[in-house]
Amino acid sequence: MTITVARYFEPSEAHVVRALLESAGLQATVADDQLVTANYPLTGAMGGVRVQVPAGQADEARALVAAYANGELERELEETVGESPEACPACGSARFSTRAPATGKLLAVAVWLFGAATFPLRGSRGECADCGHRWVRG
Ligand SMILES: [Zn+2]
Repeated sequence: MTITVARYFEPSEAHVVRALLESAGLQATVADDQLVTANYPLTGAMGGVRVQVPAGQADEARALVAAYANGELERELEETVGESPEACPACGSARFSTRAPATGKLLAVAVWLFGAATFPLRGSRGECADCGHRWVRG
């Protein structure tokens, strides 16, 4: 029996996490990625693309997914390659959120209305949780 350990709106992100789990020796698979790719507006109704592992590997997989989601793995990589982690340019805090710009959201809605298709948005704006500073991410 397989257990769902993560869900994503983006099929590509689900495959990145599948590859992460496989690199740790787990037998991970991705479900519904082709259906979501063929009909993106259904993604929310379906609960996203599922990353699954055998039941006996679920705990280890959830720990890896959590490390990926909270940025722990990214920070390890940045330390390994010598890059400094992204931080607020005003105060240096690593506690910030990201969001897509309003123009990107409007474009996505327009494409959906006139083209019956849409696309995922990238969080290209940052907002610091400590000082409230807002910036355009590079
Ligand atoms: Zn700040």
